[in-house]
Amino acid sequence: MSEDRAAVSAVLVNCTVVDGRIVDGVAPQSDAGILVRDDRIAAVGPVDAVLAQARAEGEHATIDLDGAYVTPGLTNMHTHLSLSLPGSGGDGVKGMNPHELALYMADGARRTLLCGVTTVRCVAEKEHADFALRRAIAAGRVVGPRIFTAGQALVCTGGHGHESGDTLECDGADGFRRGVRSQVKAGADLIKVMISGGIAGEHESIHTRQLFTDELRAVIDTAHAWGRRVTAHAGPAPVIAEAVELGLDCVEHGYQLTPEVVARMAAQGTALVPTLLVTRCKEFFDELGVPEWMQCRSLGAGPRHLESFAMAVAAGVEVLLGSDMPPFWHFEGTNASVRELEYMSEGIGPARALRAGTLGPIRWLGAEADLGTIETGKYADLVAMDADPTAETSAFRGIRWVMKGGRVVRDDRSGWSAW
Ligand SMILES: [Zn+2]
Repeated sequence: MSEDRAAVSAVLVNCTVVDGRIVDGVAPQSDAGILVRDDRIAAVGPVDAVLAQARAEGEHATIDLDGAYVTPGLTNMHTHLSLSLPGSGGDGVKGMNPHELALYMADGARRTLLCGVTTVRCVAEKEHADFALRRAIAAGRVVGPRIFTAGQALVCTGGHGHESGDTLECDGADGFRRGVRSQVKAGADLIKVMISGGIAGEHESIHTRQLFTDELRAVIDTAHAWGRRVTAHAGPAPVIAEAVELGLDCVEHGYQLTPEVVARMAAQGTALVPTLLVTRCKEFFDELGVPEWMQCRSLGAGPRHLESFAMAVAAGVEVLLGSDMPPFWHFEGTNASVRELEYMSEGIGPARALRAGTLGPIRWLGAEADLGTIETGKYADLVAMDADPTAETSAFRGIRWVMKGGRVVRDDRSGWSAW
């Protein structure tokens, strides 16, 4: 199906182009044109110049975007396509056999891309199904975003998330070294480790320390030796402070940050994926039948969580979009990815939110040569919307056109969508 829409060469016209470089003073370009050749951007600039170049090169299709704003596709840095929380909804996923699980994740991947999320970073997926999914997407057999994945998250015996196949239990420095290597062997682009308790564990609290120093050091040093960055599920400040000292590259959630730890994170360039939705998504928990004890713990952590986020922003920590909820999940009138970005925008404003949802994540992933901005030579992973996302982040609610790798996968005006 998507083959029909494979544009060998196309010019996008009648649009304003803007990306995360706006924070560095790169102004939006109105009356812009984008020449897309195969899967990449061949030119971008004033529409007349781009059309002249396209004509000089020969045959091309013209796509009129009808005055839309065009930005890079979003990147969601905290994704679980095989998520199963405690409760009836999660039990359904837990009960799937491997074939059912792969198909379920493929459905999630398609929905994610259609939301305009063209790249995801998976931070714990079950039974290595993520690697099969990534291969299927890359081969064009499944519609979905570009996937960077940690494989299974590393956890101590009985630690956070140990109940399901999206974690691998390890103990001792040797055990954790083997854990890192086993994920790299399977194809992991990064390593995820659980260093403290969390919201979803019945026998732990958010502040439970779960790894000894030698274990933590083993994870970080082994991953770095193999050129993989490390992100940690982490709540309490002392545990995070130690991990940052040891070279941790990213903190997930950060429910209980302090001015001291955010200063250290800023100094070391450690990013924060705050996942603000996790402590404010009662509607989602209800839908999945999440038990009362977990809801209380989660929603109760909300105010402190928001305070942590504000501290990190004030200290100059780089904050990145990540929803934890499935990125496509319909939530509060939009999808989880856009809703999370809106919450972040309340603290950082729309221009920085645009960057936190595009260029910032792509830089963390080390993929800025190919993705993250609208520049010549990069993949044509683009979204279009009518409102100005640099004025209001809610503009992303109106995404009505999505292109990945030069192929249009969604166009609301013509009624087209890749299934
Ligand atoms: Zn998570």
